[in-house]
Amino acid sequence: MTAAHPSPPPPVFIYIFTLFFLYVPCAVILLPQSWSWWEDYSSSSKSKTTSNHLNLFDDTLVLDSHRLGFALGGSIFLECIFWSAQGLLLMITRSPSLFEKFTIKKTHVDYPNQTQIDTALAELAVGHLARPLLLWLFYPAWVARGCMTATFPSLQEMCVHLIFSILVDDTLFYWSHRLLHSNKWLYQTVHKQHHEFKYSVGLAVEYAHPVEDIISNTLPTIAGGLLLGSHPAIIFGYMSLKMWQSIDAHSGFELPFPLSPFNVVVGMDCAPAHDYHHSHNVGNFGGFFTFWDWFCGTDKSYKRHLSKRMSK
Ligand SMILES: [Zn+2]
Ligand SMILES: [Zn+2]
Repeated sequence: MTAAHPSPPPPVFIYIFTLFFLYVPCAVILLPQSWSWWEDYSSSSKSKTTSNHLNLFDDTLVLDSHRLGFALGGSIFLECIFWSAQGLLLMITRSPSLFEKFTIKKTHVDYPNQTQIDTALAELAVGHLARPLLLWLFYPAWVARGCMTATFPSLQEMCVHLIFSILVDDTLFYWSHRLLHSNKWLYQTVHKQHHEFKYSVGLAVEYAHPVEDIISNTLPTIAGGLLLGSHPAIIFGYMSLKMWQSIDAHSGFELPFPLSPFNVVVGMDCAPAHDYHHSHNVGNFGGFFTFWDWFCGTDKSYKRHLSKRMSK
């Protein structure tokens, strides 16, 4: 007797799930009310966090409850966003009609097998267990930049910080990613692992060498906030946005709004462009925007591919 195949959730449920578990948490993290407790807490122990030094193991910082709260609270929030975005993809994958409708068609590469998925999952587990430690280790850098004592930004300031973070991230990601391809040693030793997924799926998003994780993913993501000394709401707001965008770009689906807020913005072509990068391994080194690929001409092969597909 074969096991009954799980029935797919109705599309309306998938839309409600997306709004409730992805949009609402991202909006809440950027609301001033969400941070009132943090502001009170900050002012009550300001003496600890205003010392602008970078000693990672300073006595006042090692077991600082601010530091632990930042690392653990931030990690729990990012886990919620990560697994909600993966849950959305899982529901679409289980629904034959939606899977067919949203899949970016590829004929020359195969869907990843169970061994590949299990390997990506094992690596995910290690990376996610390390995240609180990384946030904790980087904490003094945020302290030194004044992020922990920053006042909650106005709406205008928040938009400027978020846009600046995206532009800095996009530039650093493009050039570091391009370097990982153009330098043969770096490609073979570091970046090849990420390209084992020629047919990309959401769970492959963080399947990468630790060096790539640091130079091409983590540092570009936090650089904008560090440069501007952004409030923790911006830091985690932007991290969650970047995480959702990266999962969407690796999903293998071209999702409409509101299932994806990224593919509707002019100058963004996240999922189809990065899907092509994995399936063809030619050009398309960008993240959020296509600007650098257009400016440097590294999207020529992708453009030819698109026009060929349109003429069919
Ligand atoms: Zn690549
Ligand atoms: Zn990728």
